[in-house]
Amino acid sequence: MRILISNDDGVYSPGLSALGEVAREFGEIKVFAPDVDRAASGHALSPGRPITWKHSPIGIEACRVDGTPADCVAVGCALWSDVDVVIAGINLGPNLAEKMWNSGTLAAAKEACLLGSRGIAISREVPGDEPDYEALKPILRRVLSLTLPLRDIPLINVNLPAGTPKGILWTHQSVRYFRSEITRYKDPSGNPLSWFSISPIGDDAPLSDVCETKRGYVSLTPIRLDLTDHEALRRCRLLSQEDKSVRQLSLGARLRQFVQAIRNREGNRSLVPAENGTLDGK
Ligand code: MN
Repeated sequence: MRILISNDDGVYSPGLSALGEVAREFGEIKVFAPDVDRAASGHALSPGRPITWKHSPIGIEACRVDGTPADCVAVGCALWSDVDVVIAGINLGPNLAEKMWNSGTLAAAKEACLLGSRGIAISREVPGDEPDYEALKPILRRVLSLTLPLRDIPLINVNLPAGTPKGILWTHQSVRYFRSEITRYKDPSGNPLSWFSISPIGDDAPLSDVCETKRGYVSLTPIRLDLTDHEALRRCRLLSQEDKSVRQLSLGARLRQFVQAIRNREGNRSLVPAENGTLDGK
């Protein structure tokens, strides 16, 4: 199995080394990762400029790429044919709920899917100090043993909780709503400054990624590329058909009213189109 490793924290991240060391037990690996930290870069690509890469001495076959996480995967899949799976991570910080929208880690895995391969994104809560990467390896091994054989699931978002996991659960993406706040203060020179922050409102649903990682479980969420709300699409199409029939009915009714009004005004005179083409009997 050909496994391409990437991330968004940069090629020198200890999370990437830990992932590489475990992933090579499952197949042949190569690393294509950003040369610097590209956190929260989302699925940005750099088609308008040349991209360069260099070999990096990190103990495993690795290239540092002057590009976004998605660029790294695109370059890696072009240079190394027939990649079976791209694994991105281990990201230092969770990629749960709405964070999936701007995660560079998930984008790297998603780019793999768009290139006809498949992707697994792995992130971990980092509440305080750096995690003990050696201690993470057994659970990482279990996660890869579980997810790598699932060849018909193109994209999986994995989040590891802080501390020792209680187990592994399949979850759905949590949808959180937020309250925004602006804190005003002054810099040392007395100039006004504002700090924008958001805090989530409400509780997270059971079996969601946020809820289960909070409860200490590893969360595995299968993700789809199609963002369409198919139920809403069905309802919109029904509404649009109704609209069309309502419009047709009302057009017929309005035409009948118009003809009746002219008949009333003209009495029994026959309607003769005028030279300008209007239905004016004069
Ligand atoms: Mn990151």
